[in-house]
Amino acid sequence: MRARRLVLVVFFALGCHMQNATPPDAWAEARERMVREQIAGRGILDPRVLAAVAHVPRHELVPVEMREQAYEDRPLPIGRGQTISQPYVVAYMTEQLRLRGDERVLEVGTGSGYQAAVLAELAREVYSIEIVPELGERARADLARLGYSNVHVRVGDGYRGWPEHAPFDAIIVTAAPGHVPQPLIDQLAVGGRLVLPVGDFEQELLRIERDATGIRREHLIGVRFVPMRGEAETQE
Ligand code: SAH
Repeated sequence: MRARRLVLVVFFALGCHMQNATPPDAWAEARERMVREQIAGRGILDPRVLAAVAHVPRHELVPVEMREQAYEDRPLPIGRGQTISQPYVVAYMTEQLRLRGDERVLEVGTGSGYQAAVLAELAREVYSIEIVPELGERARADLARLGYSNVHVRVGDGYRGWPEHAPFDAIIVTAAPGHVPQPLIDQLAVGGRLVLPVGDFEQELLRIERDATGIRREHLIGVRFVPMRGEAETQE
């Protein structure tokens, strides 16, 4: 009996080792350190955002060979020449959206699905568009596997938003167009916030808000994102 139990334990330990060099609690520890040092430590205050980034398993959304670096303070390659932003930038942009829990959110640039997962923790429904089919399909499968049933991924060009689900309370763009796409402004609900990087080499992060009287545009910080592809390039 005892021997059989030992065999089971060995099998289980081996299984864990083969799936993941790092045991599950070490991932949670790495994530807590990331939140403490890189995110809260740099001035992100919204407790809901901090809880979301402490919860989303970023290592499950990056390519397997990048897992060990998932909680480091830098962007990571996610394939097809694209990158996932450093955790601080994800948290900063998310905080700027001021989500309270009942919003419909649009994301342009699904990439790995990490930002979408963070949004899914904080809002009611997340609609996310990715132009590279392979990335969009992989993110859709990974998000479903992790149980994010409130994220809807579409493969296509996000320049024109997702009119069937508009208006949105919040829109976040994670690839940089040279100008603000008008269709995204048009799909903002009254009271809605759009956060996006704009520019070619030197980019600025903007927050655009719609209220009853019109549109307000505010400069946030300087950033570096991959360029927005598709219609954004021909509309310059
Ligand atoms: N938010 C992502 C980071 C994505 S990097 C994450 O959390 O991982 C930017 C992504 O935008 C890339 O995957 C790129 O393919 C995509 N992209 C670029 N132009 C796009 C467009 N016009 N519409 C939708 N996605 C676009």
